[in-house]
Amino acid sequence: MGVFEKRIDTFLTEYNNLREKNLYYYLQQVDQLDGAHVWIGGRRMVMFSSYSYLGLLKHPKVQERAREALDRFGTGTHGVRILAGTTAAHVECEQRIASFLGTEDAIAYSSGYVANLSTISTLLGRHDVVITDKLSHASIIDGCVLSSAEFQRFKHNDLDDLRRLLKAAADKFEGKLVIVDAVYSMDGDVCPLPELVALCREYGAWLMVDEAHSLGVLGTTGHGIIEYFGMSPQDVEMLSGSLSKTLPAVGGFVAGRHDLIQFLRHQARGFVFSAALPPAAVAAVTASLDVIEEDPSLIAAVRRNIQRFVGGLNEMGYDTLNTKSCVIPIIIGKPEPTLELTSRLHRDGMFVSPILHPAVPMNTCRLRANVTAGHTDEDIDFALDLLRRHGKDMAIIK
Ligand code: PMP
Repeated sequence: MGVFEKRIDTFLTEYNNLREKNLYYYLQQVDQLDGAHVWIGGRRMVMFSSYSYLGLLKHPKVQERAREALDRFGTGTHGVRILAGTTAAHVECEQRIASFLGTEDAIAYSSGYVANLSTISTLLGRHDVVITDKLSHASIIDGCVLSSAEFQRFKHNDLDDLRRLLKAAADKFEGKLVIVDAVYSMDGDVCPLPELVALCREYGAWLMVDEAHSLGVLGTTGHGIIEYFGMSPQDVEMLSGSLSKTLPAVGGFVAGRHDLIQFLRHQARGFVFSAALPPAAVAAVTASLDVIEEDPSLIAAVRRNIQRFVGGLNEMGYDTLNTKSCVIPIIIGKPEPTLELTSRLHRDGMFVSPILHPAVPMNTCRLRANVTAGHTDEDIDFALDLLRRHGKDMAIIK
C-alpha cells in the first residue's frame, strides 16, 4: 500500500468502525428546515446545532431581498470581484457591514475561513510576529501558518502569557499582530477585550478580533464584542467574521479602516483570485443587518433562551464552562459516554453535536449545543428533560 492509500485507509477504518456501531453523527442529510426544527431521515428533530442564532434563516424580509437580488443579477456574477464581479448588492453589503460595526469600511470574502486565512497571510511579512490564543479558530491558525511571520500562541485568555510573548517580541520583530476570537467556538466564553486592547497599545501591536459567534448575539443591541464591553470600534484594528451564522447566508468579512480595506481588496489573494459571492447571499446579509437593528425582540429572545437552557443545565449539575453566548458546551469527559449520550438524544429527537479530542482537550469531550432565538420554551424544556433523564440514567449527573 502506498503512503497516501495508507493514510486514507487509517481514516476509513476509524470511520467504518463508528458507522458500524451507529455512532457516526456527521454529514447528516437534512431534508427540511423549519425554524428550530429539522427533518432528518423522515423524522422531525429539535435543532441544537444551528448557527442561525437569531433565527433569521428564512426570515421573510431576508428572503424577499435575496429574491430581488436573484431576479436582478442572477445566480452568480461575471467572476472575481476585482475585475467584473462587483455588483451594487456587493457594494451595499460591505457598506452595511461597516455601518453596523461602526468601522470606516469592510470587505466581503467567500467565507469566514477565507476572510481570516487571506487577511492574516496578506498583511504579515517575514519580519513580523503573529500571536494568537491557543483556542483560536482553525481559520486563524491556518492564516498564521500560511503567513511568513513568526507564529506564537498564548494560553487561553491568559493575559500574563500574552504579555510575556509581547515583551519578548518587543525589539525582535517589525510588525506585531495579536488575534483572538470574540466568542470561542468550542467553549462559548468571551475574550477579555479591554485588557487585550491595553496590552496591544502598550506593546505597539495590532489587534484582530473574530466576531463569528458574537455578531448579533453579544451587546445590548447585538452589535457584538465592542458593544458588549462598551468600547469604540476604533479600539481594534480589524474585526473579522462569518456571513453564515447569525447572518443567514454564506461568506466572511473583515472590517476596519478604509486604507486597510482598500489594501486587502487589491492584495488579498483569497479576494483577488476567487469568485464573488452570489448576489442573493450578500443581499440577504444586508437585509439581516437591517432586521437586527429594527427588531430588538430577537436579541431579547436569544438572551432569554440562553438563560433558560444554561440555568436548567447548571441546576441539574452539568458543567457548561464559562459560556456567555449561544455556544453551550455540556462537558461529559470521556468519548464513550459523550457518543452514547448523543446517540440517546438523537434517538429521542434532539439534534446536537458531539465534540471529541483532538478538537477539544483530552477528557473534556462534550456536547456542543447552540441555543437560538428560534427555540420556544417547549423546545428548550424538551431538551432539558432529555438531558436530565439520560444524564441520570448514565450517571453523568446525580
Ligand atoms: N471563525 C470562527 C470563530 C468560526 O467558528 C468559523 C466557522 N465555524 C469561522 C471563522 C469560519 O467561518 P465560515 O464558516 O464562514 O467559513
